[in-house]
Amino acid sequence: MHKETIAVHGGYNNKEGWGTMSVPIAQTTAYAFRDAEHAANLFALKELGSIYTRLTNPTTDVLEQRLAQLEGGAGAICVSSGQAAIFYAISNVAEAGDNILISDKLYGGAVTLLTHTIKRFGITAKVFKSADASNLEEQIDDKTKAIFFESLSNPQIAIADVEKIVEIGKRNGVLTICDNTVASPALFNPIKWGVDVVVHSTSKFINGQGTAVGGAIIERDGLADFFKENSKRYYHFVEPDASYHGLVYTDVPLPNFCLRIRLALLRDIGACQSPNTSWLLLQTIETLEIRMEKHSKNSLEVAKFLEAHPKVKSVNYPGLESSPYYDKAQKYFEGGKASGLISFEAESYEEAKKVIDSTKLFSVVVNIGDSKSLIVQPASTTHSQLSPEELEKAGVNPTTVRLSIGLENPADLIEDLNQALN
Ligand SMILES: *Cc1c(COP(=O)(O)O)cnc(C)c1O
Repeated sequence: MHKETIAVHGGYNNKEGWGTMSVPIAQTTAYAFRDAEHAANLFALKELGSIYTRLTNPTTDVLEQRLAQLEGGAGAICVSSGQAAIFYAISNVAEAGDNILISDKLYGGAVTLLTHTIKRFGITAKVFKSADASNLEEQIDDKTKAIFFESLSNPQIAIADVEKIVEIGKRNGVLTICDNTVASPALFNPIKWGVDVVVHSTSKFINGQGTAVGGAIIERDGLADFFKENSKRYYHFVEPDASYHGLVYTDVPLPNFCLRIRLALLRDIGACQSPNTSWLLLQTIETLEIRMEKHSKNSLEVAKFLEAHPKVKSVNYPGLESSPYYDKAQKYFEGGKASGLISFEAESYEEAKKVIDSTKLFSVVVNIGDSKSLIVQPASTTHSQLSPEELEKAGVNPTTVRLSIGLENPADLIEDLNQALN
């Protein structure tokens, strides 16, 4: 099935069960069992069904199936935020004494989580260059449990060498995890390029209107075999789990990565998705394809305008032929569409601030992926805690302005930027 069709119908059959056209919100904490035996069977996984909304919820279940189908995955699990999705994906494979390899081009929240917070759990992060993966393989050792990167990174707007990263991960039997938030499943499907696990902040383009925070994890088919083949590295999937009556995850014929997150991590840590948010995302995901097309088209027009403007020193948008990521956008993204993030360099720090304060249509907001256009100066906001060296490493200059292009008419956005620049 095509993605537009999945986005509208995936995971829901209105001829069965509820029979409603719109997926209802199962606004419930828990579920009634038929009898004591039914309850025991559900806990023993002899029968599948809902127990408690921290673990599963029928509304969230539809969203999970829809996301899995959209990404070409075998299974998905929704959680309370993109940050929770990253934490679960990493802690599902790594523990104290282990290390992970992370891209040098990551979202700020991912950097603090994976370098500072996770270090306090005894997990070390080592950084590799995602543009060419040149220093990736040499850093892998017996304790390396995951390679984490963003397909199209926020805020650097850089595209990773997905093919090379996947090839190195496969050759070394190390799980690859791709944050696909900015590209969205409409433009790119990491699993189709061999990535093992995809994470999303559904707060961004999947939501599309800046109305809720959510996250998702999607896994490819066949991870049980991968864990068995690499059983030394991923022993906790093939050995009995003492926290779950000695359950061996690879013995269960369900997508293993999400199963372990649900049964162990969601059970114990509990950052679950609210059914209300799942319902909201089921509405917005229906239009993901057409929105991503419009975000990308608008962005290309705005980027071309900026590139030609005398007060703009440089523009970073992978849809521009001048971009170092243009070839990768053409190779990986549907129709070369490059999503809605643009950054540009103003003439000075003051000039960048002036542009931001002079725009009328753009809201000064640190979010991305909204239908409304957003503008921010990373150096004075999202990245203000970083030293000049760290700013440079993160690819953020004091003169950088980041735009998240919305769904307005591009002529109005261009007119607004033009008056702000002059
Ligand atoms: C926003 C974002 C996150 C974090 O998601 P939240 O839903 O805000 O927790 C992770 N990765 C990327 C690329 C993001 O843009």
